[in-house]
Amino acid sequence: MTDKEHRRLRRRLSSALLTLPALAFVACAHAQDSPGFVERFDALVDQGLPATLPMPPPAMGTQSRAQSALRVTARLNSTATFPGEPPATLYDATLDGDAAVVTRSRTGLDVTAVTAQGAQVIAVTSGAATEHTLLPAASDPGTASAARAMPADFHDDVESGAGPMPLPSFADSTAPLAIRIFLHEELRSTQARSIHAGYVAWWLRDMETVVLPGEKIEVTYLQPVRGISDLPIGTEGTIADWARNVVAYRNSRGLRATWRNKYMLVTQRIAVPGRLGTALPASGAAIASLSGPYSVIAHELGHTFGAEHALAETRMGKWWGCRTTMSSPHLPLLANCYEYSTANMTSIRRHVSLKGHLPAHWFTPQPIPGSGRSAPLPDTIQ
Ligand SMILES: [Zn+2]
Repeated sequence: MTDKEHRRLRRRLSSALLTLPALAFVACAHAQDSPGFVERFDALVDQGLPATLPMPPPAMGTQSRAQSALRVTARLNSTATFPGEPPATLYDATLDGDAAVVTRSRTGLDVTAVTAQGAQVIAVTSGAATEHTLLPAASDPGTASAARAMPADFHDDVESGAGPMPLPSFADSTAPLAIRIFLHEELRSTQARSIHAGYVAWWLRDMETVVLPGEKIEVTYLQPVRGISDLPIGTEGTIADWARNVVAYRNSRGLRATWRNKYMLVTQRIAVPGRLGTALPASGAAIASLSGPYSVIAHELGHTFGAEHALAETRMGKWWGCRTTMSSPHLPLLANCYEYSTANMTSIRRHVSLKGHLPAHWFTPQPIPGSGRSAPLPDTIQ
């Protein structure tokens, strides 16, 4: 292949990759009226769990399941709260035998199932159509050369703080872990439900049922929040700006500086050049771009709980091969395992049991490869 042909191929692959996030959400969307499904779900759950009911089928020939059986096994402790709504209730479930989670919100019911093909979301809204969406686990892994053309990745996405978070002895260890997810203004507040179903619900189920059994995690989606929703993004300075705004938000709301509070800014565009996300573990803060894979929010939140790239795993055989959530992969299109590695689960448990004390090496500024300078030291929670 000549250099000219090679450049042309790389351009084609790059443009194809850039369209992937948008395609992912619409690739398998089909709809059919499903009158009474939400009410039937509520009635069955009220009668006791476990309970099984058929999901509304997609309206046309589709890559989605023709008819799925939802088995709801238990109510979860954790909650998700969308802007302007009371907390949604979450349920542990299976969909045709695959691990699933149900989010019952004021406006409807979302089922997220983790499958070999990716995360399947069935969104049922009272009085409206049902939407089946497949968020692919990966594109063709043969496009390894395309992967190298990705404009951003997870390398160097952890920023050191200026010092360890002080042990907040006054913090209530029994208080729920609180994850505040701020939606940048380039997203609509009404997208909170679909963002939760695709990027967060499966993580929340895994955290409560596997990583931190029985732990209650409260996820709250916020928009608009002045000074955060409208935060200018897209430069290296975005990291320090976000860290300062987290402190300002915490102070303005009278929130305690505790390991049990995490702050996530979700953007559509890449917020920091070259990075799908950024985490500031010492501040409990992170940024994630929806331009990243479906594990991007779980990945950056993982850093705020003490998880690290070096402890990630590549697994073969469960499906066709997958990378655990904290991977900083050379092949970003390899499937998500939708789980943390065993070693990272241990790190997360240690972070929670040690009340947020993080390994000392996180607080030594690391040089950014190729930049000839050290990582910035944004404000930390004091
Ligand atoms: Zn990372």
